Amino acid sequence: MAKEELECSFCGRKKPETNLLIAGLDAHICDRCIEQAHGIVLEESKQSDSNDLSAELKLRKPQQIKSFLDEYIIGQEMTKKVMSVAVYNHYKRLLQVPSNDDIEIQKSNIIMVGQTGTGKTLMAKTIARMLNVPLAIVDATVLTEAGYVGEDVESILTRLLQAADYNLEKAEKGIVFIDEIDKIARKSDNPSITRDVSGEGVQQALLKLLEGTVVNVPPKGGRKHPDQKFIEVNTENILFIAGGAFDGIERVISKRLNMKAVGYAASMSDDVVDQQNLLQYIIPKDLKDFGLIPEIIGRLPVLTYMDPLDAKTLRAILTEPKNAIIKQYKKLFSMDDIEFTITDGALEFIVGKAIEYKLGARGLRSLCEEILTDAMFELPSSNDKKLNVTKVYAEDKLSKTTLKKLKAVS
Ligand code: ADP
Repeated sequence: MAKEELECSFCGRKKPETNLLIAGLDAHICDRCIEQAHGIVLEESKQSDSNDLSAELKLRKPQQIKSFLDEYIIGQEMTKKVMSVAVYNHYKRLLQVPSNDDIEIQKSNIIMVGQTGTGKTLMAKTIARMLNVPLAIVDATVLTEAGYVGEDVESILTRLLQAADYNLEKAEKGIVFIDEIDKIARKSDNPSITRDVSGEGVQQALLKLLEGTVVNVPPKGGRKHPDQKFIEVNTENILFIAGGAFDGIERVISKRLNMKAVGYAASMSDDVVDQQNLLQYIIPKDLKDFGLIPEIIGRLPVLTYMDPLDAKTLRAILTEPKNAIIKQYKKLFSMDDIEFTITDGALEFIVGKAIEYKLGARGLRSLCEEILTDAMFELPSSNDKKLNVTKVYAEDKLSKTTLKKLKAVS
């Protein structure tokens, strides 16, 4: 065929009538047909998204969801179980077809209570990774009521849109993790003394988001601005997970348990109550006594707690999760053909220091970094192809001043 006779095999346009004609094996396609085909692909994938979801649900029953979480998160058995069920139900809810039985499955937004560094963020991240949905992590402390210095609650959705690359449909099925929810607890029982800008007002503003509403979101964040175009985001199917340390809530729990013990004579005696881990007895009323408004508690119906991390758990966190810290170092060194090993003694030493200096799980990484920096600096340009970190080696690299410094930053 002569060159000037080339045409699109789909619409028949001649080459000069197109902007672009792409050649295949024995056919051609023009730019317009490509665009049209692309539109069809998008439309199809929209439909298959919900098919994907139902396939996902068939594939991942709560037990499979928990097995996935087990690969990344050590311990926290109760929360992993509760989360697996909540997430499963949440996605079942997305698939529900309108029926005339008047039964509407409500949202299973989650609230996790536990000290910092026990894996709350990790839990949300792992769920998002498993479901392949966008995740926005926001800090409740920066949120203020509209009109005050700080961020409006809508900024949460701006983050989610950004996490979804501005794909609205994806964002509307995403997950929002609100950290430090305890910091917006009402400060006093009498809100009229001063206006509680960062407390109850923010809780009120969050309510609407949590229950499901259409929000005008400034796509680039920042204050609402008359010239800025808004994106309408429906929060109906967004899963909200809130987390907080709720420092001092143990006292509330303990008080309640003791009161009960009086009421029921010896039915709740001290030997039944595990004083070391009072969080496991938490009930929604404790959150209310701490300062969350009942409406917020009602919209976070799944309440769960994180266990404090003991030495055994910290030790496991170093080596067991799929992307455990030690596995990461092994990989880093192996890229320089260096075989990295670490003795049990050294691992126990690191865990011991993390506990002694109250560094938590987050401190494990900083401790390893301090111990290994010299080696990571020197070994790549040396002939040494082996590094065995022993307790003595670790002790040598970790001076008291370093530890104090780590404590200061944690
Ligand atoms: P939180 O949100 O409760 O403050 P994070 O989820 O940010 O805590 O945890 C901090 C880091 O500690 C995580 O990145 C993770 O590496 C580690 N970590 C904490 N708890 C666990 C756990 N149970 N299993 C595995 N890693 C954990």
